Amino acid sequence: MKLHFRHRMFLGIAIIEIIVMAVLVLVIKNLVHAEQSGYVHRRAETLAGMLAVAVHEPVEKGERANVQKLLDEVTKNADVSYVRVLVNDKEFAFSGERTSLLKGYKDDHSFDQVNDGIYDVHKDIVYSLKEKAKGELNICVQTGLDVAKLNAPEEQLLVKVGGLAMLAVLLSSGLAGLFGVYLTRQIELLKEAANKVAGGDFQARVPVVGRDELSETAEAFNAMAQHVREVYDNLQDAVAARTEELRVEKERAELLSMTDELTGLMNRRAVFSSARIEVAQARRSSLPVSIGVLDIDFFKRINDTYGHPTGDAVIRRVSNVLKDSLREADIVGRIGGEEFMVILANTLPEDAVTVMERIRRAVEAEVIVHGGVSVSCTVSCGLATLGAADDLDSLVARADECLYQAKNGGRNQVVS
Ligand code: GH3
Ligand code: MG
Ligand code: MG
Repeated sequence: MKLHFRHRMFLGIAIIEIIVMAVLVLVIKNLVHAEQSGYVHRRAETLAGMLAVAVHEPVEKGERANVQKLLDEVTKNADVSYVRVLVNDKEFAFSGERTSLLKGYKDDHSFDQVNDGIYDVHKDIVYSLKEKAKGELNICVQTGLDVAKLNAPEEQLLVKVGGLAMLAVLLSSGLAGLFGVYLTRQIELLKEAANKVAGGDFQARVPVVGRDELSETAEAFNAMAQHVREVYDNLQDAVAARTEELRVEKERAELLSMTDELTGLMNRRAVFSSARIEVAQARRSSLPVSIGVLDIDFFKRINDTYGHPTGDAVIRRVSNVLKDSLREADIVGRIGGEEFMVILANTLPEDAVTVMERIRRAVEAEVIVHGGVSVSCTVSCGLATLGAADDLDSLVARADECLYQAKNGGRNQVVS
């Protein structure tokens, strides 16, 4: 069973206070009772002693009437209910009436029971004095004082004090309970907010009430939640920035993996992959697509005559001519040393020939100045248009065949 703070505080304080109060009441009651009994004892003892002195002489003289008179005087006093004088264990005189507590005793034995001291029968006090000189003189005094009655005012006071203490117990327990309610409420709020933060709601805050350890805890929690939120936001930003960086890097890497380093054109892998897509597209849409394969003529000579760097410059210049001569939708790539491929989608075969012819003329017209020398070159081109029986491989093979014919036919020409 879940025992709330408020219940524990209420129970704890109430139980301790009730125990302390009960012990206090018992101790005080016993102290008061002992005090009152002592008082009654002393009074009975004093009276018995005084009577022993007073009746000594009349008893010796046998003046029973005088003794009787004296005893009657004594019992008139409200404090003494019964008094008796025994001489050698024989009753000499008595006055007053014995209370029920003494009635049970036989005369001869009753005083033996109470001889030589104080006999406390709770409510009543009997005192007996024995003088042994010329026989025995026993005085018995039963006071009329009632310890219970004597205690009454103190007991009433005790009841009042007890009542007040009980009220104080209830009040303090109530206050403790109220404090417990406040404590439990604040802890509940803290728990709720912590659960929210744990669930990813970093906006969650605890209301700060007053100035105590709980409000300080709430402030510390809020500061922590704020910090967690900032760290989370920063992390989000950092992750977003890094993701963007990675995306750009990936794009660049993809581009690089598809790009020819020397010319910036598509590389062989990329251009063949594009060609495959274009062929499939043309098949679906029944639109024409042509592939042209170009090769620089006698390129080995250029390398041999002017050097490899000049050869590279020639390759770059030819690739620029290709880029400049084609439309946005056309695809061009470098597929080998001084070999290029052009894909002309959605282009009629005769238009494809015109495009390749334009390129051939443009290359022929170029003069490349590199390392203090001027170089010109020409290209041969084989062109094939996708036929019903073609796939990419057969189409490229046909274009290659045409290139071969162009070379054999004297170079610097387009064969389709
Ligand atoms: P043809 O007219 O029959 O095509 O003769 P060719 O000399 O152009 O053909 P061949 O295949 O005999 O020579 C091609 C040369 O291209 C051989 C090779 O060293 C050179 N080559 C290949 N790649 C590069 C390159 O990236 N840069 C340079 N500078 N030369 C290259
Ligand atoms: Mg070649
Ligand atoms: Mg060549």
